[in-house]
Amino acid sequence: MSELEIPLVRCNSCQTVQVPPRWVCTKCGEKDFTRVSGEISGTVYSYTTIHVAPARFREQVPYVVALVELPYGVKVTARLDCQSPQEVVIGMPVVLSKREDGCLWFRLTGKKES
Ligand SMILES: [Zn+2]
Repeated sequence: MSELEIPLVRCNSCQTVQVPPRWVCTKCGEKDFTRVSGEISGTVYSYTTIHVAPARFREQVPYVVALVELPYGVKVTARLDCQSPQEVVIGMPVVLSKREDGCLWFRLTGKKES
């Protein structure tokens, strides 16, 4: 299993996670980072269904672009890997699955708990 290229780094000084990775911590100005490894999971904070896409994504519509809230206090914009936009519910758990077309992709890990 190859390691997923995870575009997250944590500042070694203040522990703030930077998305996307930066050379200088946006919080404390330090330049010493550790790459965040392991499974990156979060929840769907909000999402939009895309029906009209740029040419390179046109055959993928409709697809879902979500704002995913990570447990590091940051939110990232990502594509959701799902069969239908109807599957997506605000607050549902997702996990980072791949990086493709310059996007982060999260897959759904279950139904929203009610
Ligand atoms: Zn910092």
